[in-house]
Amino acid sequence: MNISHIEHIGIAVENLDESIKYYEEVLGMKCYAIEEVVDQKVKTAFFLVGNTKIELLESTSPEGPIGKFIEKKGQGIHHIAFAVDNATEALKLAEERGVKLVDKVSRKGAEGLNIGFLHPKSTQGVLTELCSKEE
Ligand code: ZN
Repeated sequence: MNISHIEHIGIAVENLDESIKYYEEVLGMKCYAIEEVVDQKVKTAFFLVGNTKIELLESTSPEGPIGKFIEKKGQGIHHIAFAVDNATEALKLAEERGVKLVDKVSRKGAEGLNIGFLHPKSTQGVLTELCSKEE
């Protein structure tokens, strides 16, 4: 499936403003975008570290996936996202290789990327996202 790099690491946070402060004031990074992804019920903040982004995720609803995650596990690393050439093709390939999918076809995520998730039951417990600029 030709993974080129880690596109981003998704981190679930309780309070986006407080977390942005930590990343900016303690770690010295710069938040370059804040975006709400309505269908995922999250507000996201992005930082660039080399080729890789840190994506902070604050839930906008306790019913959303991040809301549920925080209720169960608390704040912390939520998922890892790999950059691929074509997310839908990569999802198909993963399924052919026996992976259970969260998304059968890619959908639009933050920053206009095409994204899809592999089920953590099939990925040794790591919620894995595949994303691509092109489809
Ligand atoms: Zn992500």
